[in-house]
Amino acid sequence: MASQDPRLSRATVLVASVVLAALSCAAFLGPAHAQQATFKRLPITNDAWLQPFPGLRVIGNLYYVGSYDLAAYLITTPEGHILINTGVYDSVDMIRASIESLGFQLDDIEILLTTQAHWDHVADLATIKRLTGARIMAHVGDVAVLEDGGNSDFRFPDGRGVIFEPVAVDRHLQDGDTIELGGTVLTLHHHPGHTKGASSFTFTTQDDGRDYAVLVVNMGSINDGVELLNMRAYPEIADDYAATFVAQKAMSSDVWVSSHASHFGLHDKFTAGDAYDSARFVDPEGYAEKIALYEQLFLTQLEAERAQRSQ
Ligand SMILES: [Zn+2]
Repeated sequence: MASQDPRLSRATVLVASVVLAALSCAAFLGPAHAQQATFKRLPITNDAWLQPFPGLRVIGNLYYVGSYDLAAYLITTPEGHILINTGVYDSVDMIRASIESLGFQLDDIEILLTTQAHWDHVADLATIKRLTGARIMAHVGDVAVLEDGGNSDFRFPDGRGVIFEPVAVDRHLQDGDTIELGGTVLTLHHHPGHTKGASSFTFTTQDDGRDYAVLVVNMGSINDGVELLNMRAYPEIADDYAATFVAQKAMSSDVWVSSHASHFGLHDKFTAGDAYDSARFVDPEGYAEKIALYEQLFLTQLEAERAQRSQ
């Protein structure tokens, strides 16, 4: 007997899934919205978030696969890869293109991590998990926000609504926990404030016979709407930021990168077409300056809020 026509079976599956989607959504939204996702998309107001940028090798087995501003990092190993951050909605095709341009495959991602559970860094986690079967690991402080699609963001104590596809977190991480894959060992450093579970990661990579200490750092920037002395759903936020700056000032690395390209000066350090250079992102002075800048912004805001309170 001839084997089943694969085009026919694909078509059958497609029709079946469309019918299922229509049935599952119709009760809530009506048939006209059968194909819509069940979260509310926020408008993307920053063009750099979805502006493509070529994938590049940062150092050793660390690659930048994000957009012009939203960093995503691929850490490759012989047993599959780790992806840190996904960017905002609809980033997956850009990430896939970058990964393939570097000679790797999206399908080989085994572990998904994030530096912070804000929609501009995690909105495609659910999609990539579905495509790859990768396990998601996140600091416990960010698990609730990831699993409720951003609804429990502390800036909105009464709920902000589901703004990205919720995703189940397979492993809950604590400060100092390690993530191991194919000979690479990452250590999580809990750097709360920006989000409750904001995290940085360190690991050692090899390049041309030399070891490099790598830091993927989440900067302690403060979003609009955050009041350090008045966060009902995060009363310890000021103390958390202060502790994060103490910890980050004590860290040293050979190479550092961050959650936004603008945070670590990607576009000052690299222009599309530049050849690989293991020294390109060696920048300890730039790190110290950037941490000091964000700490100063924090202290300035804290002082202003205290002054306002005492009036
Ligand atoms: Zn953020």
